[in-house]
Amino acid sequence: MSTTSRQLPSSTKVLIVGAGPSGLAAAISLIKHGVSVQDIVIVDSVHRGDNTSRATVLHAATLEALESIDCVQDLVSSGIHMKGMRLLDGKGSIFLTNDFSSLNSYTKYPYSCVISQAYTEASLNKQLDALSGYVFRPLKAVGMKPSEGGLEVTFENGESVTAPYVVAADGARSVIRSISGINFADPDGLTPDEMDPRTSQIVLADVSFTNSLEHALPTDPFLGSFAVGEQGIFLIAPLGHPKVHSEIYNAEDPVYRIGFSIPLDKGEGPSQPGLEILQKYIDQQGPPFLSSDPTRNPNHPIHVKKVYWSTRFRTHSAIADVFFKRIRGDVDRQNGGVVMLVGDAAHIHSPIGGQGMNLCIRDSIGLGATLAQHIHTSNVDDHLEVLRNFAEERHGKALKQIGMTKRFVRMVGTLMNRFSIQYWVLYLLGNIPFVKRNLTWQLSGLGNR
Ligand SMILES: Cc1cc2nc3c(=O)[nH]c(=O)nc-3n(C[C@H](O)[C@H](O)[C@H](O)COP(=O)(O)OP(=O)(O)OC[C@H]3O[C@@H](n4cnc5c(N)ncnc54)[C@H](O)[C@@H]3O)c2cc1C
Repeated sequence: MSTTSRQLPSSTKVLIVGAGPSGLAAAISLIKHGVSVQDIVIVDSVHRGDNTSRATVLHAATLEALESIDCVQDLVSSGIHMKGMRLLDGKGSIFLTNDFSSLNSYTKYPYSCVISQAYTEASLNKQLDALSGYVFRPLKAVGMKPSEGGLEVTFENGESVTAPYVVAADGARSVIRSISGINFADPDGLTPDEMDPRTSQIVLADVSFTNSLEHALPTDPFLGSFAVGEQGIFLIAPLGHPKVHSEIYNAEDPVYRIGFSIPLDKGEGPSQPGLEILQKYIDQQGPPFLSSDPTRNPNHPIHVKKVYWSTRFRTHSAIADVFFKRIRGDVDRQNGGVVMLVGDAAHIHSPIGGQGMNLCIRDSIGLGATLAQHIHTSNVDDHLEVLRNFAEERHGKALKQIGMTKRFVRMVGTLMNRFSIQYWVLYLLGNIPFVKRNLTWQLSGLGNR
């Protein structure tokens, strides 16, 4: 870990704003593709380790991309290899299973790697350290304007850095995106209030339980469970191996991710729900094998023991109009530089389907390769089509992923009403091997790298 504080240079070749999974992956990819670490400045507004757990799953396509920058080993040895997911109905009966091992002939990662995003970021930070990369923290970007030699990004503390290439990896509320005047909206024109009110308010939490879950979550092949009942949805998955539990949570017990929806008509839940609320929703919406109620779970009533992290949020989809913009000064049109958007700064959607961070990481690793190629062969204004084409390609992939996530959300909505015809149509479809394989393929990201 880099502990020495360094002098922020006033200019650089590439400035990466944001050191979440996207910014870190972009920096590592640039270095791996031959850009000198001296030519990259990375800044983040928070201290190292202050980002929270959030995403839990690394899918096959993302593991392959991480392998291409030598970052996969620690993650696959620390995460749980989830060979499948089981979809349960409200009574805890299995409705559908998917089997990632059916991807055997397409990838060497025929599973989803379940691990806390906090660990994924810690692991990427270590990889960056090993390459002598350095993140300037806490440094919050607040402004950007064209100047001679690039775009001058200014920070809250009054310092600034000028670079011909600025990578906006500063998350869903990206300051760089908004200063660049790039619109960010749902591709179908929906507002957050038009999302399905039953599934658009979500709680996520990392918790331990009073008893072992081994009886309930068989270790192979179906580790993750996703229950959909009339009350709402409920997810449970183990969050990596004991190494992750001790390093990230300082926990001796296994830590699990739970997630559930709170219908909007029940009002806003607290922003960081505590043990009592989590227990209430586990008992209400979770599968019977997790219940603390002995009438529902007579053999193994189980209680939440400790809450390590929790959050409540509203979901919606949005995509930036463009992921690439050449910004010039008003007076000298040659001044200024290029802004490239990656990760949540470029696209967001519901966490249902566990895809969000995956496309972010793949965007960034691809950007590293493309930007390195541009830097090696061109001045900032030559061959801009290389960057523009890459950005358009990623935009298409993001649209595809948002479309897929919306289909998942609709499917979940259908499963909440077991008296509808659509429910039974889905039930029949879900038992057709081709449909199951197709679902697995989509989740893996292999068709939308
Ligand atoms: C509550 C929540 C739950 C989620 N759950 C899931 C899930 O279950 N599954 C899933 O796949 N995805 C999930 N996601 C999405 C996933 O966390 C993101 O896709 C992922 O973190 C995106 O990575 P990123 O690096 O693009 O952005 P971020 O992780 O947001 O990182 C952005 C970084 O930029 C920094 N930054 C922001 N503004 C500035 C500034 N002005 N100057 C300098 N630095 C700045 C921030 O400190 C941060 O470190 C969830 C997101 C949220 C918010």
